[in-house]
Amino acid sequence: MTSKTRVVVIGAGLAGVTLARRLGELGTPALVVGDEEHRPYNRVLLAEVLAGRYGPEVIALPAPAGLLRGRVTGIDRAGRTVRCADGSVIAYDTLVLATGSNPVLPPLRGLFTPDHELPEGVHAFRTMDDCLGLSKAVRPGTRAVVVGGGLLGVSAARALAVRGARVVLAQQSERLMERHLDPAASALVRRHLEGLGVEVHTECRVRDVRCAGGAVRSVELADGYALGADLVVLACGVRPRTGLARDAGLAVGRGVLVDDELRTCDPHVRAVGDCAEHAGRVYGLAAPALEQAGVLAGLLARDEGGAQSAPAPRAYTGTRALTRLTLTGAGGPRGPFDLAAFGETDPRPGDDVVQLADATRGTYRKVVVRDDRLVGGVLVGELGTVGALARAWEGAEPLSSDGGPLLHLLTHDGGS
Ligand SMILES: Cc1cc2nc3c(=O)[nH]c(=O)nc-3n(C[C@H](O)[C@H](O)[C@H](O)COP(=O)(O)OP(=O)(O)OC[C@H]3O[C@@H](n4cnc5c(N)ncnc54)[C@H](O)[C@@H]3O)c2cc1C
Repeated sequence: MTSKTRVVVIGAGLAGVTLARRLGELGTPALVVGDEEHRPYNRVLLAEVLAGRYGPEVIALPAPAGLLRGRVTGIDRAGRTVRCADGSVIAYDTLVLATGSNPVLPPLRGLFTPDHELPEGVHAFRTMDDCLGLSKAVRPGTRAVVVGGGLLGVSAARALAVRGARVVLAQQSERLMERHLDPAASALVRRHLEGLGVEVHTECRVRDVRCAGGAVRSVELADGYALGADLVVLACGVRPRTGLARDAGLAVGRGVLVDDELRTCDPHVRAVGDCAEHAGRVYGLAAPALEQAGVLAGLLARDEGGAQSAPAPRAYTGTRALTRLTLTGAGGPRGPFDLAAFGETDPRPGDDVVQLADATRGTYRKVVVRDDRLVGGVLVGELGTVGALARAWEGAEPLSSDGGPLLHLLTHDGGS
């Protein structure tokens, strides 16, 4: 059976669902096809579900009106249709790829069973299914090894430790979250994890996964040391999910290449979120996915003739993305742990740096200023000033001579 819908969105993640909701508000209905079994949810909060703080229903997103569960397996650009795994065919006038990312699975010996499955006890950390699988397996005293010390690995290690697991985190590079944080902030994150009982190993490469009876038993490090493991979490980064686009002959770099109107090389196909590459950047973060979805909704509503009264749509010129990680919990070291990083956190020669560190409270704030403009910053443990700083950074306005937000940073205690 062939049905006809003008805007079809592939992927019911943050970008796809936000786009469809905005389009609905602007009078342009869309059909969203999503392959996850669960109601759409906010992926950023998965670690809170793993930590046991939220049930899955708490992180659900408002479902768009036209949501179809299914997996798109092919795009026929000439016929302007998509084919689904169940054999159905959906026609589009405009197709939007919002297919997100896949987890990177590291090249470890023994990682796959003969059936090309992950062994029992080995999980990626990307989907609600991954999260529920881990959640079901973790008990107080469970030996867990987290492979990777970026944003995902740190969130997973913390959540598992809060659940009472004995966690070892193996990070290949020399410090945690090195893509987002400067060395001082990385050190605080490490201290925080260690306060929760996580054993952190940096410059540590995992080489091998050892299994018995189809279940993981240990992981072996490059130096030959074996770590006993009941659970292994693979948190080694993500890669844009571009297979459909590539198979359909669309231009793909690291992500699906899009212009300032989020259009691929085919004017009838757009792309947003983790799967898209704009001006050489693949963000892999929530804020750009949401901004792209908002911009595209305006552009498509204009093209489809919806919401004449809506504000004139703007082009997408890139997101100045602030990375924010918030993990809340009970008291003491299990209490809230917030961090945010934006822009350039490593100063260039000639930049001014303002830094405040409180070793007792485990807080750290740093901003980098170049030619009177805020170019980046890191805040750990104390985010009272993050809004003011992010606005000053996003606006790229010259800082006022009276100190403006910098003074705020220095004097405001965030109410704590
Ligand atoms: C555990 C975790 C913590 C994170 N924490 C943060 C954070 O603190 N801050 C931050 O900024 N970002 C964070 N991120 C990243 C953030 O979640 C992503 O940037 C964001 O979800 C991207 O949205 P998206 O819609 O592009 O992709 P996704 O949310 O991945 O959604 C894509 C959807 O498309 C579906 N799909 C793919 N192919 C098909 C197909 N062929 N047919 C049908 N459906 C398909 C996928 O199954 C998926 O449901 C985190 C990610 C994870 C996994």
